[in-house]
Amino acid sequence: MEHEWVASNYGPLPVVIAHGEGAWVTDVEGRRYLDALAGYSALNFGHRHPALVAAARAQLERLTLTSRAFHSDRLGVFCRDLATLAGKDLVLPMNTGAEAVETAIKAARRWGYEVKGVPDGRARIIVMRGNFHGRTTTIVGFSDDPLAREHYGPYTPGFDLVPFGDIAALEAAVTDETVAVLLEPIQGEAGVIIPPNGWLRDVRELTRRRNVLMVADEIQSGLGRAGATFACDLEGVVPDVYVLGKALGGGILPVSAVVADRDVLGVFTPGSHGSTFGGNPLAAAVGQAVVGLLATGEYQERARTLGVALHAGLEALLGHGVAAVRCRGLWAGVDIDPRMMSGREASYRLLEQGVLVKDTHGSTIRLAPPLVVGEAEVDIVLEALSTVLRH
Ligand code: PLP
Repeated sequence: MEHEWVASNYGPLPVVIAHGEGAWVTDVEGRRYLDALAGYSALNFGHRHPALVAAARAQLERLTLTSRAFHSDRLGVFCRDLATLAGKDLVLPMNTGAEAVETAIKAARRWGYEVKGVPDGRARIIVMRGNFHGRTTTIVGFSDDPLAREHYGPYTPGFDLVPFGDIAALEAAVTDETVAVLLEPIQGEAGVIIPPNGWLRDVRELTRRRNVLMVADEIQSGLGRAGATFACDLEGVVPDVYVLGKALGGGILPVSAVVADRDVLGVFTPGSHGSTFGGNPLAAAVGQAVVGLLATGEYQERARTLGVALHAGLEALLGHGVAAVRCRGLWAGVDIDPRMMSGREASYRLLEQGVLVKDTHGSTIRLAPPLVVGEAEVDIVLEALSTVLRH
């Protein structure tokens, strides 16, 4: 098999996908599956959304890459529309999510030195236990997941871990050298972990009071997934910095961005940060089309209303092979009763039922179907799960 040539840093399920359309994919043997993982939320708009493919196609015919040595006629309008969607002044485009997180870390440190007045080299950033912000050496250094972290040291200093959802612990960890609190409003990779009600608002109040930046990594939680443009919206919270990725590229190419006001992103001067591909015209064209889809509010609304059905259906399985359910919008962490089967086994059995999901942290499966699904598809997911748990 030609897969032997691929490094084994992933353990994919035994399905070879050859085609995708909307919420559905087809394997090399012609079998159809409902994609209830959606590229870890990179496919919020489904596979090959016609408006996004059209934007990419049109741009492919004109201009694909300039580097940032020159302007392109696509980047400014993309940044304008994304900044407007987020209610912020500026956008710094990158490619992958991890790069955008790294960019936010650099912005926060520089803001700390140049605006807050922290002595050079002393800035600290508070991060949450159970975090997942990507795979670079700095980012895995402040992960508390041994699988992501071990044997990649020495690790970058300057990060403090506190329990997710614990405002007292966060308050105790803030010092005069703290420049930012970096958090996922809902922890995706950890298993769709939702913080206690009011915690995000408390973080907002605390960070404002202590002159610390609130940096929300909405790479997985944002852009419609949780039933709002940003998961922070669910608590009426506006962070200082949004970190975006995944669905921003429409499932077509990697597009990420840091979005913030001028007092933060304005710290970057020419030459002090960059990326050859970040903000390239093709990425900008697709990203702008994604923002266009989100500006209608339709996808956020779909996630909200269909999420109610998903949540109710999952709750009905509690005690029948499901130990716990956490759901926001079209996004659910489902803890399978470990006495029955592991999350891995559940995802294998769901594959046999024609539904693609992926396990995380042993007993959890994450459901995140594309936001283009209808009620019928939500029912298919629920029916497949209940079949798997019955047998
Ligand atoms: N941040 C969060 C919250 C994520 O879920 C992910 C990816 O799963 C990342 C950052 C990293 O994104 P990428 O894989 O594009 O580097």
